[in-house]
Amino acid sequence: MRILVVEDEKKVARFLEKGLREEGYSVDVSHDGTDGLLKAHVHDYDLLVLDVMLPGKSGLEVVRELRARESSVPVLLLTARGDQDDIVLGLDAGADDYLTKPFGFDELLARVRALLRRGGSARPDRLIYDDLELDRVTHKAHRGGDRLDLTPKEFQLLEFLMLNAERVVRRTELLEKVWDLQFDPMSNVIDVHVGHLRRKLRESGDDPLVHTVRGVGYIFQKGEAK
Ligand code: CA
Repeated sequence: MRILVVEDEKKVARFLEKGLREEGYSVDVSHDGTDGLLKAHVHDYDLLVLDVMLPGKSGLEVVRELRARESSVPVLLLTARGDQDDIVLGLDAGADDYLTKPFGFDELLARVRALLRRGGSARPDRLIYDDLELDRVTHKAHRGGDRLDLTPKEFQLLEFLMLNAERVVRRTELLEKVWDLQFDPMSNVIDVHVGHLRRKLRESGDDPLVHTVRGVGYIFQKGEAK
């Protein structure tokens, strides 16, 4: 699941980015409304966390423009304490929920999960392949009934592979989609994570499911790659 945080207070933005990443979400950050709106148009986010008071365009303008262009991405507004007007205007403009600053991270997470569960997007909350099941809302994965103990990055990797099951996924694609930063494509960061993921998948089933396609990347499927 990919989340865009639009927040001009750098400290708050960093705190949200770090916390959400630790929960296994992919996170992009924008520090003003104009850039945030642009990003929201270009990328296909599952959720926006949007501050109201922003340079460029205000959070309210961003929501209005998104809805005017028929985007149904869930929006969680961050409002200043006691600003009832912003809350009413925000919800009227098409925001799905709001949180008043200062807020606790647990409360933010609960609202994020609720909004993701409600969806709005056609994306399924659960991915199932053979005996493997991945819950994209609670970030838990099970194989044959056993809970897999995955790190947030391994979870994201598995999610991406399952979404692209039975097709060859190039290494550059993985770097782009799972590792937000531009890593050196020659680095072994992918191999290390794939290795760990395979080992964990094998603990609860015979088939490692993730197969290497030499010189290209990987394929997620039952049985060896053809
Ligand atoms: Ca602000």
